[in-house]
Amino acid sequence: MLEIADLHVRYATAEAVRGVSLSATPGRVTLVLGANGAGKTSTLRAAAGLVKVHAGRVTLDGRDVTGLAPHRIVRAGTVLVPEGRRVFAPLTVEENLVLGGYTVSRERSGTALDRVYGMFPILRERRGGPAGLLSGGEQQMLAFGRALMSSPRAIMLDEPSMGLAPTMVESVLEAVRAMADDGLSVLLVEQNAEMGLEVADDVVAMARGEVVFTGPAGQARSHASVLRAFLGEA
Ligand code: ATP
Repeated sequence: MLEIADLHVRYATAEAVRGVSLSATPGRVTLVLGANGAGKTSTLRAAAGLVKVHAGRVTLDGRDVTGLAPHRIVRAGTVLVPEGRRVFAPLTVEENLVLGGYTVSRERSGTALDRVYGMFPILRERRGGPAGLLSGGEQQMLAFGRALMSSPRAIMLDEPSMGLAPTMVESVLEAVRAMADDGLSVLLVEQNAEMGLEVADDVVAMARGEVVFTGPAGQARSHASVLRAFLGEA
């Protein structure tokens, strides 16, 4: 289980995250909703070691990883798939995946590759072709697969549906579900609440750097503060 407790992130001009607490549980998708600038990305980046944690704690299965270097957080079992797919277009699908396994041993990387191909058969089909020829949805799946190569227990996904056609969004959401069903703790950041709620088990809504709602997805649909958060009015 990935736990973020009383997290604070400060930039030179602003406190972007002010006491955020949330957790992601194995086998479940935890959706983080919020308008532009609510602090969602800063929360994920802090948990991944990419921005400084000003205060608070990040733990994975009880182990404190707060403030560790990004590669050590990956080794500890938490991985971030940042916004924008950023696959290496001229490299093959498999080469992209293998790059994602560089933090782990070759043996573990081989097992992870089988697991990724099992989860996303389309990547196996396309493994010898250049990543740049994949559709947007397939490239997002490749970005997921590349992250899974480190055999994480928790995966954080920043706006994976951004810029995708609706049909591709569906397959990306299915991929998100598949990762949770495989036992991962999934933290999904989405601005589009409707999309996110399709796969979410739990919901955390953020506004102005704070958590304004935490609860099961069913409850979120009818909760007014969540609505305001994702409409950008909160
Ligand atoms: P978005 O959907 O736009 O990414 P978000 O909810 O992820 O929004 P953040 O990107 O975490 O929000 O931004 C939270 C606040 O911190 C915003 O006011 C933003 O302008 C500010 N901010 C983000 N990154 C930086 C930075 N590197 N330096 C200064 N301020 C930043």
